[in-house]
Amino acid sequence: MHPRPSAAPLQRAWGIRRKAGGRIYLIMKIEILTLFPEMCEAVLGESIVGRARKQGLVQLRARNIRDYTPDKHRRVDDAPFGGGYGMVMQCQPIADCFRALCEEWGERPRLVYLSPQGKTLTQAKAKELAGLPSLALLCGHYEGVDERVIEALVDEEISIGDYVLTGGELPALVLCDCITRLLPGVLAADAAFANESHYDGLLEYPQYTRPAVWEGREVPEVLLNGNHALQEKWRREQMEERTRRKRPEMLS
Ligand code: SAM
Repeated sequence: MHPRPSAAPLQRAWGIRRKAGGRIYLIMKIEILTLFPEMCEAVLGESIVGRARKQGLVQLRARNIRDYTPDKHRRVDDAPFGGGYGMVMQCQPIADCFRALCEEWGERPRLVYLSPQGKTLTQAKAKELAGLPSLALLCGHYEGVDERVIEALVDEEISIGDYVLTGGELPALVLCDCITRLLPGVLAADAAFANESHYDGLLEYPQYTRPAVWEGREVPEVLLNGNHALQEKWRREQMEERTRRKRPEMLS
């Protein structure tokens, strides 16, 4: 295994505690194991996820699998046994990369392999993962990864849909985004996601903002009259109606 700079003592802790708004949170740690860490960094530094990261509400990092190959040309892939198209990522750099992470953290995070062969990501799965202290996300590339490293180390395979992408980085970033916004303190109100689509099996109600009339289209009257009980009732009805209309299979 190739040496890596040692982790800061805080990062070795089982979960860094942070006090925000008078409440103590355990900081979730997510590490993306990838051949393209810069691609991940570009996304992780932006918007709500980037802000959560800067505020220390989540620890999100990308680790380069290539740093763990002994090959002098930094190769991490080889041709498939039995022939066939493309290249396959080798076991050793992936295994050493993950084991180095476990050693640094002093714990074994759940290892998820982003794969078109996995179960499709749902909001319920994101909620489950957001409850873990730590997570490692393995991104494949080329034709994928050697099956033996999946058997040996991977706890779970997750897909972001029934289509094939060139690499696992975009799916891993989708998962990071989805999890991070569920973590305590990340959204303005912790319950901000509770009315959103898929939170409790329904789609969200329609949203409107100023102006009240745009190109002859009016905002529903109920939203302008200041009666909060009526507005809540209307929103609930809209959630049920549009779920029935747009995604009937969600109700069956
Ligand atoms: N040969 C593989 C197969 O047919 O199952 C597909 C390999 S794909 C070209 C390369 C990598 O992209 C995969 O190892 C996986 O990490 C990622 N990937 C592609 N599509 C994905 C999806 N829908 N969800 C999650 N990861 C995906």
